[in-house]
Amino acid sequence: MTRFFIHSTSVLACLLTFLLNHAYAQAIPRKSFLVCGDSKVLITDYAGSKDSIPKIVWQWDAHQAADLPEQFRTKLFNTTDDCKAVRGGRQLLVSSSSGAVALLNVANKKVLFHAAVPNAHSVELLPGDLVAAAASVHANGNKLMLFSLKQPGKPLYSDSLYSAHGVVWNEQRKSLFALGYDVLREYKIVSGNSLKMVAKWTIPGIGGHELQPANAAGDLFVTEHHGSWLFSLATQQFTKIKDFPDAENIKSLGRDASGQYIYTIPEESWWTFHVKFHAPARQFAFPDMHVYKARWFDSGLAENPLSRAHSHNDYMQAAPFTLAYQNQFGSVEADVHLRNDTLFVAHDSRDISADRTFDKLYMQQIAKQFAKNDGSIYKDKSRVMTLLVDLKTSSKPTLAALVKALAPYESLLVPQGSVKVVVSGDTPAPDLFDQYPAYIFFDGRPGINYTPAQAVKLGMISQDFHRYSQWNGKGIPVEQDRKAITEVIAQAHALGKPFRFWASPDNINAWKILMNLGVDYINTDHVAELGTFLSGRKNAEYQATEFYKPYQPTYKNNDAMGKVKNIILLIGDGMGLAQIYSGFTANRGELNLGRFLNIGFSKTASSDNYITDSAAGATAFASGNKTRNRAIGVDSNLVAVPSIIRQVKATGRKAALISAGDITDATPAAFYAHRPERSQMAEIATDYLREPVDILIGGGYSHFAKTKTADTLRTRGFQVSDNWEDLSKMKAPFVLLDDKNTRSMLNGRGDFLKDSFQKALQTLQSNPKGFFMMAEGAQVDYGGHANVVPYVVTEMLDFDKLVGEALRFADSNGETLVLVTADHETGGLTLLDGNLKTGYVDGQFSTTDHTAIMVPVFAYGPHSLDFRGVYENTEIYHKMKRLLAK
Ligand SMILES: [Zn+2]
Ligand SMILES: [Zn+2]
Repeated sequence: MTRFFIHSTSVLACLLTFLLNHAYAQAIPRKSFLVCGDSKVLITDYAGSKDSIPKIVWQWDAHQAADLPEQFRTKLFNTTDDCKAVRGGRQLLVSSSSGAVALLNVANKKVLFHAAVPNAHSVELLPGDLVAAAASVHANGNKLMLFSLKQPGKPLYSDSLYSAHGVVWNEQRKSLFALGYDVLREYKIVSGNSLKMVAKWTIPGIGGHELQPANAAGDLFVTEHHGSWLFSLATQQFTKIKDFPDAENIKSLGRDASGQYIYTIPEESWWTFHVKFHAPARQFAFPDMHVYKARWFDSGLAENPLSRAHSHNDYMQAAPFTLAYQNQFGSVEADVHLRNDTLFVAHDSRDISADRTFDKLYMQQIAKQFAKNDGSIYKDKSRVMTLLVDLKTSSKPTLAALVKALAPYESLLVPQGSVKVVVSGDTPAPDLFDQYPAYIFFDGRPGINYTPAQAVKLGMISQDFHRYSQWNGKGIPVEQDRKAITEVIAQAHALGKPFRFWASPDNINAWKILMNLGVDYINTDHVAELGTFLSGRKNAEYQATEFYKPYQPTYKNNDAMGKVKNIILLIGDGMGLAQIYSGFTANRGELNLGRFLNIGFSKTASSDNYITDSAAGATAFASGNKTRNRAIGVDSNLVAVPSIIRQVKATGRKAALISAGDITDATPAAFYAHRPERSQMAEIATDYLREPVDILIGGGYSHFAKTKTADTLRTRGFQVSDNWEDLSKMKAPFVLLDDKNTRSMLNGRGDFLKDSFQKALQTLQSNPKGFFMMAEGAQVDYGGHANVVPYVVTEMLDFDKLVGEALRFADSNGETLVLVTADHETGGLTLLDGNLKTGYVDGQFSTTDHTAIMVPVFAYGPHSLDFRGVYENTEIYHKMKRLLAK
């Protein structure tokens, strides 16, 4: 009964959370802005506000926040000065110059986190549940502070920064930017609880106020006493924001994906009673509130990379609009011809056909999506789609026809809706722009001096790529061209406009390079391919934030042919050269694996297939037999064959098997089990009883429990545990299988491999006859199957740290052979980009399965010379067996 009661309340809680979230999703309109001042934070509906009177749809008042401690409730939040929506608008960060920061839940206004920060001026959420805060001028202030959501109130770290005013996280660079009195700094997260400054720039003035993301490329707005600036990440230059109202002491400044600015300028002391907008201009009055900053609730800049995809000549695609839409493109292009009062889409007037009208192929499709998505072009209501209309017939009549054709759809078009129509081709002169309705924007050209009013009507700036470079898309453009390209892009960004090239190289490498150079719209005829490329960015890129120094070996006995007392065999499942080099790159050009001198290659084909699986691969080096895929510890006729463990025991050595995966999985199983089919987990577990080892550590306890293998082992004097915390207590012979050990590094596996290895060493090294240890980094393979680069890299680095431990032990001992290899490569990984200075990796997979390519064998210690050359994977077994017999 009690159990039922608990269960039903948790269901109720879930339901309630759902309802609250749902209610909130209904309540906060797509285009809203945050206003902070006094003890309050407001959310205001932009479109729903009338004249200068704001329509407030949500508010929080610290004085009413019953869950804040008294001092915070009554004093420290008296003057809120910054507020920003985080976590998809579900939560809000608030800072107050009276001395505090907080994280609020929007749905129920609960305070999730609060901390005292002297003269707090800004606050930001960082990955890993970290919160950064800027403490401005104050006896205990003038610093950047770091907190953890898990330990409220207690700063983890601080760095002095005079008059700290702004903190902004940049997800692409995995960097925190912080603004002080005259400096902009870039920090990286170190060890998950600290920051390290990696770069700084002097700002072009003094009294830095505002720091905000300016666009999807991550460029930053910076304001100081006398001006407003755009800081380009690509050129690392500050340029004045063109055509922005000239004002001193701009306190807050932001822009949304449609290009509209929101800003505040002090009127009385530091405060104002108005929130201002620009391009288009508007102003709302807050007469009863000392407003400090105002921000878009959702700027749409924390962007879907697909928003950068532009379907060039979209109407030529097999499914015009639809293909680009299905690929979530941010922009589509239609060439239009006017004939008999109707707009047709066609490349050439000869191609005009009666059923291919602009209305049918584009506007009706767009309207259909709006109907489906409850009033917006995409389900994600923050997204905007650009419809670039290229006028192919005489400008004036064609544009007039377009205006007429669009008029019935006005509510779907920016500024009212989320489709932005940008007219290109034979456009009218800029001084005529203002004669067209609000829903018509124009495609600008670099080098034209647009007046501020004309610039408002620009949807983007475009140019022919060949004006800047003859680059064919291979490698990178020459330096002179790169400079010209970044300059023209910086000009467009200074104007607040996205930039597009047409006729630019159109392949994966070119997309990548153009994005790095800051191009906003990637022009393509390969819609599906670019869609796949961009949607995969999250899983393709890894930016390291922590680095380690590999062990420096002494090379004691490395070329010697003396006795091999111990063998440590380390298997990186699925670890090919690309996986290794991804780790190399992420750790800024060094790995323990990079210290080996004696290296060979293992050919991995199984007895029945060009490409092996882990079962046949592990059977080969565990028993010296090529077998069929899926078979474990048997030959190609499925007859059981002894593993190296037989030889290890026969010579009086002890043995340990360790895996960062299930211990009944193929690689460890090949050392003790004999089954035709790797999925026979129960049988594999019982096989362990026939040839147990001294130490068995990994995951997969359930197979040992269900089959009573665990009980039988206990009656035979083995210690058996399913709790990782027992590791230090365990006495050999033991079996420790806890599923916590099979989590990925990304999900917090921690030092499992290193700790297991050390435990095994402690236990086995006193054996006078020596030992054999196999430890597997199982999940490099999982990351490859999942096609997730961050997964591969983090597993690779964890495995490499284990390699360092093994080298260290080998040096201390002189009779230990360390072998590091893989059963096969997984994922067909290639590296398309990387940075050895910053630890950035960009990878691309060619399959979700294993590949046939040879894998390296790294050897260290006595007889490591034996492992040079190119040989079959079965040779690893035969070589080890010979050495054990000596
Ligand atoms: Zn494998
Ligand atoms: Zn695999």
